[in-house]
Amino acid sequence: MEIEKLTKEIRQRAFERKEPKTPEQVGASWYNDDLTYDGVAKTLFMILPTPGCAWALGDSGGCTMCSYVSDCTLEPIDTDTILRIFHDHLSRHPIAEEDKISVKLFASGSFLNPYELPKEARDEILKTLIGLGNVTEIIVESRPEYVKEEYLDEIFEIIGDTLFEVSIGLETSNDYTRLNKINKGFTRDDFENAVKLMQDLKESKGYNIKSKAYIFVKPILVSEDQAIEEAIETARYCDSIGVNRLSFCPATIHSGTVIERFWRKGAYQPPWIWSCIEIINTVRDELDIPALLDTSGFGSRRGPYNCKKCNKDLKHMIIANNLTQTKIDYECECKNEWLAEVENCDMNSSTVEIKHIPLY
Ligand code: SF4
Ligand SMILES: [Zn+2]
Repeated sequence: MEIEKLTKEIRQRAFERKEPKTPEQVGASWYNDDLTYDGVAKTLFMILPTPGCAWALGDSGGCTMCSYVSDCTLEPIDTDTILRIFHDHLSRHPIAEEDKISVKLFASGSFLNPYELPKEARDEILKTLIGLGNVTEIIVESRPEYVKEEYLDEIFEIIGDTLFEVSIGLETSNDYTRLNKINKGFTRDDFENAVKLMQDLKESKGYNIKSKAYIFVKPILVSEDQAIEEAIETARYCDSIGVNRLSFCPATIHSGTVIERFWRKGAYQPPWIWSCIEIINTVRDELDIPALLDTSGFGSRRGPYNCKKCNKDLKHMIIANNLTQTKIDYECECKNEWLAEVENCDMNSSTVEIKHIPLY
């Protein structure tokens, strides 16, 4: 497929320009308040050292907006090294002071893929967390193809009735956008099967398992108003199949990606912050499902942007309202500009299929 070829080529160039990181450089952690299934509570966030997402390292080149793989080692890491770095980060935060905490483990790809995180390392990490005695929720991320009964059995054997959430980057419920504009490589059916398996295991084996969908706001070749519509439609779809939580990820321009190439050619701009607010307000109005709005890159040159006057205020407001799950109520002069773009952005849209035309 054309999009795979382009993504692979751009990814390859990015690898040539940047040295892979050492496992120590990949590992990172921070400790904050976050919205858990049991209200606001302290949450430990940890990036585990991994070789990087198998989808991005493979022939597909990965997703068009993601450069997480460029922050990884690109080579397998032995279990002892992973565990040493995990324990080092664990010891940096005052987690013993809390009655209960939530832990979010990021693998810059799929936590459930044994190639990215060996089973021995996964087992030991989970055993350690459960041994702390105050970890009530463990949140991980995975592509749907690794959501397998065998892996979940292994995990629940260790964590017992601790809540375990698997977040999947569905990005959009529109298969055409996901496959051809994001290069995600899996279908809505694949996602639904993964969610269904988790729901079945909850029923049949009593696992305390939850699912979360990441929804990407404004992929390439999607106009501002289509981006709003698609994100809201995706939320409705997730709610209808019983996904437990949503997290909206508005586009930011990662280096060495297809989205960056479009942006540099003037063919792409991240969404307005107003568009993100329109999405989250509509979802909080219409649906009961907890929904978070990620503010990474907000107000920066490479991220969602409104105007200098309101970028910062809105970012703070969104973070606060993620905890309360309330709507954002705010006005600024730049809103009219946004409205004009939303109303007129499709004026030149053509129904002709997009072809790969050399730009120079
Ligand atoms: S978005 Fe997820 S699946 Fe896609 S390349 Fe990034 S880490 Fe891999
Ligand atoms: Zn403004």
